[in-house]
Amino acid sequence: MSYELTTNTIWVLICTSLVFLMQAGFCCLESGLSRSKNSINVATKNVVDFFIGSLLFWLFGYGLMFGESFQGLIGTTGFAFADNSTTHWATVVFLFQLVFCSTAMTISSGAVAERMRFRSYVILACAIGAVAYPVFGHWVWARDAAGAPAGWLGKLGFMDFAGSSVVHSVGAWSALAAVLILGPRTGRFGAGADKSRFSASNLPLAALGFLILWFGWFGFNGGSTLALNGQVPSIILNTILAGIAGGVFALLWEMFSSKQISVENIFNGSLAGLVAVTAGCNVISYPSAILIGLIAGAVMLGATYLLEKYMRVDDVVGAIPVHGFAGVWGTLAVALFAEMEHIPHGITRMHLLGIQALGTAVCFVWSFGFIWVCMWTLNRFLPIRVSAGDEKIGLNVAEHGASTELHSLLETMIAHEKGDSSSRAEVDDFTEAGIVGYQYNRVLDAQEVLLSDVKDRELRYRSIMDNVMDAIITINLEGRIEEFNLGAEHLFGYLNHEVIGQNINLLIPPLHQNLQHKYSEGDLNPQLVRAIGSRQEIVAQRQDGSTFPAELAVSSVVLADREIFTGIIQDISERKEYERSLNEARKRAEAASDAKSEFLANMSHEIRTPMTAILGFTDILLGNLKEKEDIEAAHIVKRNGEYLIGVINDILDLSKIEARKIELEQVRVDTQEIVRDIAALMQVKADLKQLKLKIEFENPIPETIVTDPTRLRQVLINLLGNAIKFTETGYVKLRIQTINLEDSCAQLRFDVIDSGIGISEAALTQIYQPFTQADNSTTRKYGGTGLGLAISKRLVEMLGGQIQVSSKVGVGSTFTITVNTGSLEGVRLLQLDESSFRKAAEEQNQEHPIESGGSVASRRVLIVEDGLDNQRLISFLLKKEGMEVELADNGKLGSEQALAAQEAGNPYDFVLMDMQMPVMDGYTATRKLREAGYKHPIIALTAHAMKNDMEKCLNAGCDAYATKPVNKQKLLETISHLAAPQASEQAD
Ligand code: ADP
Repeated sequence: MSYELTTNTIWVLICTSLVFLMQAGFCCLESGLSRSKNSINVATKNVVDFFIGSLLFWLFGYGLMFGESFQGLIGTTGFAFADNSTTHWATVVFLFQLVFCSTAMTISSGAVAERMRFRSYVILACAIGAVAYPVFGHWVWARDAAGAPAGWLGKLGFMDFAGSSVVHSVGAWSALAAVLILGPRTGRFGAGADKSRFSASNLPLAALGFLILWFGWFGFNGGSTLALNGQVPSIILNTILAGIAGGVFALLWEMFSSKQISVENIFNGSLAGLVAVTAGCNVISYPSAILIGLIAGAVMLGATYLLEKYMRVDDVVGAIPVHGFAGVWGTLAVALFAEMEHIPHGITRMHLLGIQALGTAVCFVWSFGFIWVCMWTLNRFLPIRVSAGDEKIGLNVAEHGASTELHSLLETMIAHEKGDSSSRAEVDDFTEAGIVGYQYNRVLDAQEVLLSDVKDRELRYRSIMDNVMDAIITINLEGRIEEFNLGAEHLFGYLNHEVIGQNINLLIPPLHQNLQHKYSEGDLNPQLVRAIGSRQEIVAQRQDGSTFPAELAVSSVVLADREIFTGIIQDISERKEYERSLNEARKRAEAASDAKSEFLANMSHEIRTPMTAILGFTDILLGNLKEKEDIEAAHIVKRNGEYLIGVINDILDLSKIEARKIELEQVRVDTQEIVRDIAALMQVKADLKQLKLKIEFENPIPETIVTDPTRLRQVLINLLGNAIKFTETGYVKLRIQTINLEDSCAQLRFDVIDSGIGISEAALTQIYQPFTQADNSTTRKYGGTGLGLAISKRLVEMLGGQIQVSSKVGVGSTFTITVNTGSLEGVRLLQLDESSFRKAAEEQNQEHPIESGGSVASRRVLIVEDGLDNQRLISFLLKKEGMEVELADNGKLGSEQALAAQEAGNPYDFVLMDMQMPVMDGYTATRKLREAGYKHPIIALTAHAMKNDMEKCLNAGCDAYATKPVNKQKLLETISHLAAPQASEQAD
């Protein structure tokens, strides 16, 4: 073997290896530019098409392409390639052509990636490698035995040095046919499609593939000389320059046309330059190579835009613009840029351009047409596209069962989404998916902690819900029940599942009470609405239809998207029953208290009447008795009788106060007069004990006040009486002052101060309790019933004031009362002092001696009284004064007698009418007498000592009023006051 042959053999075998390396380049580029779920599928296709293509090319592709030509159309010899020469140069050439064929096939795999079935792709690869590529290759590159072109295009002068059209365009147009039949990937040209370029899975891998391709291209173009001659360096430099120029154009375009620089477009720009320069790299200058490369970049970008925007051709890696369109440009560029000495003799540039154009057109028609027919036919029997489901999960898994880390991460996530949280994502510190998996696991862990916390709370909440005795019910805005706890089940008799989703009206009937008219269908139950934020009593209904009183409290909670209401319902039947019985007991107690008061009132009347007789006759006895001892005994009877009357009066008062039957007067009274009366009364008692009674004024004092004088006197007499009673030496002082004079609620304040025995602190808290005394020995020593202060306290409060006490044992006590003064508008304010007060009191007594009317002697009196003792007593008293007395036993007889006397012209001077009598009482009798025209004085006699009793008597028609027991002096005063002067007296 000659030296030249040897070096050529070595060179071409090296170039063959470089071209083979381009398979690796395509593999990296195409799988890097496709989505990761399909990357394995793309790579596998690249490997497999080499197997199939090579085998078929050996079997008959090589024969078709380089066998003896039949009419320049097809090779007819050299099938199942064999080489009998000793140099094996033919084998070297075969090997070089074999890897070219694989390149043509591999170009299509990138374009049809991500949706073409693997089996269909194998058939596509076979059709390209076995027919489309060898046939067109024959037309261009076939040679006869003399080395002259044998294919019809070659014979015309068509120039395609390393296969811009033969290899690249054939591959690209075949891919276009398959892509059109396949259609775009799902979602590629949907709404907003311009932006939906799917992202490449691994751009660094694509970059590596691109560089490998470029490296292989040195062999692709450099080996096409089939000799290591002087052309090789310039061919390689042209290749590099065009590749750079294409890449630079795309880069500049990207930089100026958009914000983000598309990496794919830079790769493809450069590849387009390489493809374009392939056809003429042996015949052009370096500047031409650069120009061809630049224009190839532009052609690629323009074609990409055209295919995507207008034709909606989905070419995953951009194989068609790069290999098809740039291939066409490169083929045409040969005619434009080839140096003239390389253009076959006798052919003009324009002529060549025509031939080149024809060649590219034929290339398109043949390879596109042939593959389209093949794919269309195949598609009819065996769909060339994968199912939508397979496309979605990706061809790695669908076609090869192969998984990537990313895919298994997604699988784990999908399992979690479906509720299976048993597995965890795979973790790997050195892969992106592994790191994402690690972080995802951490998120899952955190979420699980949260979830278990939520479950924990839910459990606790459940146990509370199920263990409370009350019913807890949750409803939504439409009133539908969402939760119903165990307590509710017990209370209402429904099971949880029977009421969930039902309207709350089932349990709380809305048509209750007067709410009926306000309630319309669809409204929230009004019983419920009223209970929001406050407790309400409602009527609830059990499953058996029975109703029961309940207490309902409702709270509303606004959740993320809606409002719910939680009601707590408590059965209050027992409480209601208890309230009812309590009410009844109260009424019974009130009735009992009323009965007690009635009883006390009656008793006091019953006791008073005999006491009247006892005291009256004691008075008579006292007048008659001579012996000192007898007089003493009679005095004891009188004193005890009076004490008994006092006790009865107190009991009567207290029972009336407690039964709220006491009514107070509101009259304007002279302040000084009240103080004067009391002072006069108390002075006597103080004198008896040789105590000093001081009256002190803290001026100013209003001349008059509005109050009940009787009750005010009663209280002050009680306090002063106690002070005198419990003081042995020293003084008793009454201090009067006005308080709150500036305000509208002025009050008179009385302090009763003594230097007596005082009250212990313990006793102070109890002295206002009825029948309570500071010390039990008090009764023995001082007497008393323990009622005075109880009555005083209640009376003072009724008079609008308060009672207070401060006391020190052995030093003395101060009782303070306040009473309302009523309006002081226009009332004079006096400046008083004790001496001037006492002087005025004395003067008044002298100015107003007890008024008397005429003499009582020889007056005719009718006593209407049922009690025999009283009849006797009063008759005795009056007769003793010289009066004429007649008697009647009851109101009926009395009134008849009085009328008869008036009619007979001899009327009584007075009628003394008892008010409580059998047959006809005094009120009726008096009323009847007045109705019958009786004109003469009637004096009422009653044991009821209360103020309204007097009013009652006067209202019935009486002229005056005297109380029982009869006080002789007072009775005589009253009679004398009423008595008209007699004729004889008038004459005087
Ligand atoms: P009575 O004086 O009839 O027992 P009271 O209700 O008026 O009933 O008084 C209750 C008790 O308060 C008296 O028994 C006495 O122990 C005590 N008390 C009232 N006033 C005084 C006072 N000025 N000094 C000492 N003790 C008093």
